[in-house]
Amino acid sequence: MSKVVLITGGSRGIGRAVALLAAREGWSVGVNYREDARSADDVVAAIAGAGGRAVALKGDVALEADVIGMFDAATRALGPLTAVVANAGVVAPAARLVEMSAERMRRVFEVNVLGACLTAREAARRMSESAGGSGGSLVLISSAAARLGSPNLYVDYAGSKGAIDTLTLGLAKELGPEGVRVNAIRPGLIETEIHVASGEPDRARTLGRSTPLGRPGTPEEVAEAVVWLMSDAARYVTGAILDVAGGR
Ligand code: NAP
Repeated sequence: MSKVVLITGGSRGIGRAVALLAAREGWSVGVNYREDARSADDVVAAIAGAGGRAVALKGDVALEADVIGMFDAATRALGPLTAVVANAGVVAPAARLVEMSAERMRRVFEVNVLGACLTAREAARRMSESAGGSGGSLVLISSAAARLGSPNLYVDYAGSKGAIDTLTLGLAKELGPEGVRVNAIRPGLIETEIHVASGEPDRARTLGRSTPLGRPGTPEEVAEAVVWLMSDAARYVTGAILDVAGGR
C-alpha cells in the first residue's frame, strides 16, 4: 500500500520537520499552509529535490470548505491518504484570562479545536474501512500545556490542547474498528516561530534550560515520534498521548 500523508501546517516548524522526515521514509506528502506559500513551496521543493513526492495545499483549517478542498486536492495529486497529521495550531500573546478578548479566544479555539475536529473528520471519512478506505493513522498535535494549564500565559491555548487530548481518546475508540489508529503527541518547549506570536520569541531557549533534560526540543525530535506513530511499527498503538517534552 502506498504511503500518503496530509500534514496541516506542514510548511513551518514541527509540521515542516514531519514533512521532510516522512518524505525520507518514503511517504508522499501533502503540505498544508494558511498564508505563507513560499515556506510551503520550499518544503515541496526540498522533498522533490531529494526524489520524493509532495504538493503544497493552501487552506485555513478553521474553514470547513478549505479543509474538504485540501483533502480532495491531496488525494487527486498523491492518491488515497493513509495518514493525516493534525498539526496546525496558533497561540496568542501572553495574558491573563481577565484580559483576553472574545475574538482572540474564538480564533484560538477555531484553529486549534474546530480545525483539528474538521481535519480528523475528513481523515475518518476517507480512511475508514466502512467508507471504502484502507485504514490508516491519524496523529494530533497537542501540547504539554494541556496538562500544565499555562496560567497567566494562555489558558485558552492550554484548554484548546486539552480538547485535543480528549478528542484523541474518544476517536481512537470510535475509529479502531474502522482500521484507523488515533494518537497524539504533546510537545514541550520546541524551538519554532510559534513563540513569536506569544510575545516571547526566546521562550523555548530560555525556559528549556529548566527542563529535566536541560534544553529545548527541536522540531526534528518531535517529527521522529510523529512519523513513528504513522508507521507500521506502531500498528498496535492507538489512543496514546505521547509526551515529547524533555521531562517537563
Ligand atoms: P509554527 O512554527 O508557528 O508553524 C505553524 C504552522 O501552522 C505553519 O505552517 C502555519 O502556516 C500553519 N497554520 C497556522 N494557522 C493555520 C490555519 N488556520 N490553517 C492552516 N495552517 C495554519 O508552529 P509550531 O511550533 O510548529 O506548532 C505546530 C503545532 O505544535 C501546533 O499545534 C502547536 O500548538 C504545537 N506545539 C508547539 C510547541 C512549541 O513549543 N513549538 C509546543 C507544544 C505544541 P502559515 O505560515 O501559512 O500560517
